[in-house]
Amino acid sequence: MMHLEATECVMSFISTCRPEEHVEKTSVIHQIFTGQLKSTVECTQCSCTSDRFENCLDISLHINNSPDLLAAFADFTKTEILDEYTCQRCCCKVKATKRMSLHHLPNVLALSIKRYDLFGNKINRVMFG
Ligand SMILES: [Zn+2]
Repeated sequence: MMHLEATECVMSFISTCRPEEHVEKTSVIHQIFTGQLKSTVECTQCSCTSDRFENCLDISLHINNSPDLLAAFADFTKTEILDEYTCQRCCCKVKATKRMSLHHLPNVLALSIKRYDLFGNKINRVMFG
């Protein structure tokens, strides 16, 4: 039988409420856990920005290269380089930067810690220490 930790139980409960279209926007789950992520892409040529918003019930964090939760969250929001972004203003493929941020904080922020690396090996390192 599979062992579930407290956070896994909560996420399992939330997952049973998905897909989101089956959960009323006014449901208790949404009132408690819904936040909004913002993805901002900025063209390195003309500095034009493009924002995309996405509702989320949790945030998945990688802990592989992070010594603690704050570092994992910083890694989640770090600026990435996109090599072939099609800029609407430049009308061609350019380099761009992309950064995730929390635009709207939920009442309760649910974090999903990815405890397995790319090869399926469990990460047993203790965090918060
Ligand atoms: Zn551009």
